[in-house]
Amino acid sequence: MAKNNDDLFKKIIGHAKEYGFVFQSSELYDGLSAVYDYGPNGVELKNNIKEYWWKSMVQYHENIVGLDSAIFMHPSVWKASGHVDAFNDPLIDNKDSKKRYRADVLIEDHVEKIRGKIEKEIKKAKKRFGDDFDEEQFVNTNPRVQKYNEQIDTIIKRMVKDLEEEDFEDLKKLIEELEIACPVSGSKNWTEVRQFNLMFDTKLGSLSEGSNKIYLRPETAQGIFVNYLNVQKTGRMKIPFGIAQIGKAFRNEIVARQFIFRMREFEQMEMQFFVKPGTEMEWFDYWKNQRIKWHKALGIGDDYYRLHEHDKLAHYANAAYDIEFNFPMGFKELEGIHSRTDFDLSAHQELSGRKVQYYDPESQESYVPYVVETSIGLDRMFLSVLTFAYREEKLEDGSERTVLRIPPSLAPIKAAVFPLTKKDGLPEKAREIMDELKLDFNCQYEEKDAIGKRYRRHDAIGTPYCITVDHQTLEDNTVTIRERDSMEQERVKTEELEPIIRKKLKVQL
Ligand code: ATP
Repeated sequence: MAKNNDDLFKKIIGHAKEYGFVFQSSELYDGLSAVYDYGPNGVELKNNIKEYWWKSMVQYHENIVGLDSAIFMHPSVWKASGHVDAFNDPLIDNKDSKKRYRADVLIEDHVEKIRGKIEKEIKKAKKRFGDDFDEEQFVNTNPRVQKYNEQIDTIIKRMVKDLEEEDFEDLKKLIEELEIACPVSGSKNWTEVRQFNLMFDTKLGSLSEGSNKIYLRPETAQGIFVNYLNVQKTGRMKIPFGIAQIGKAFRNEIVARQFIFRMREFEQMEMQFFVKPGTEMEWFDYWKNQRIKWHKALGIGDDYYRLHEHDKLAHYANAAYDIEFNFPMGFKELEGIHSRTDFDLSAHQELSGRKVQYYDPESQESYVPYVVETSIGLDRMFLSVLTFAYREEKLEDGSERTVLRIPPSLAPIKAAVFPLTKKDGLPEKAREIMDELKLDFNCQYEEKDAIGKRYRRHDAIGTPYCITVDHQTLEDNTVTIRERDSMEQERVKTEELEPIIRKKLKVQL
């Protein structure tokens, strides 16, 4: 990670704590690694993200319905889904720093460095050739870039083969041949690579015999698969249709050092879309486009996103794309779009011995539907919003402010209402306005400190509007409304406040 991005990440983490967004879990006891709590502003932002997602899925699409399934499920679910046997990460330890890494992540980071070299070559050439520069031609013909691309290709192919064949000896050899050093100790003194299952288990009931071992779900998807028939039948759903769910998932992550990017307890927003076999690639494309549109509609800026096709497919998928976001530590997965075939439903059908099929009234045939899923981590989405929003700005008068440019529809507080002073009936008038607005929006009333300080406090938590009640308000029922990003102030009638705020919160999907 570049030095200044590292600094930026630290600042975001510090800011998130100082302003009540995210706290380390059990901080009183020195914290619990990779587990976090959300404070008063954090929970609002999180709820707004959930609402934006839920509405775009369940309200906007007439053929998508919701579900809230339990975290605990019958252990056979995880046997059928393949998680007991195949939900593993290859781990490797550095003997000197005693730090543990995912072997594939070490290799991918190495590949990222080579990609960085290619970027540098492109930048240099761009400068040299100016307007005439043809990037595609350059990438395809420049010998140095070609050599780097060949290196990347060879490394990825070998890694994927090793992972698929579980050839951990060769995976370690690859790490050694690439001379990958531990980022902490700088040494190349590695242990063997071992498989590590990511599922947490616990016991059901009071007996502790092996037979009542159950798992904390590592994904919400299986709750949807095992309820597929219940939902289809009770909702009289016709294929194609989707089931959406938001809920907690748990993974005993090996590398958990990136704040809320990689947590052991996190939340997923998943939608499984059931389609006729043979039509899945069509729907895969539809959802890929739809999901990118959803992200971009927030106004975060197209440069922050990129699509990445999977090199190694999960055990259940026949096509997979990640939507990556430019986090402070670089482009990383924010959301996955997977074509899961009929892998899960067929596996449940086989292990349970019950038919999990769809009768198509038009073609009069029964089949196990194929599934296209969109799966996004709520916490990662939260981090992406903070990453984009956090700004330190120098103002014209030479002062500085820290502002969170959170997309208004997601901001924890939509408007703050201030009386200019604490006397002359201004607080009462401000309260009156606050009482009107709070029925529609999450608002905050503040009368402490000078107006400038109150503005700064609300800039720091991303409040789009600050409304100030002054003496003129008592005469003509007008207030000043100040917009967060431009800091421009306008005098408006109090009855205009509601439509002004509402307009600002609109997202065009
Ligand atoms: P990664 O490669 O980063 O481990 P993954 O490919 O295993 O992620 P999926 O199984 O596709 O992730 O899960 C879907 C989404 O859930 C991811 O895109 C991510 O946003 C989120 N997610 C997965 N694991 C975590 C985690 N440990 N902490 C927070 N969010 C997570």
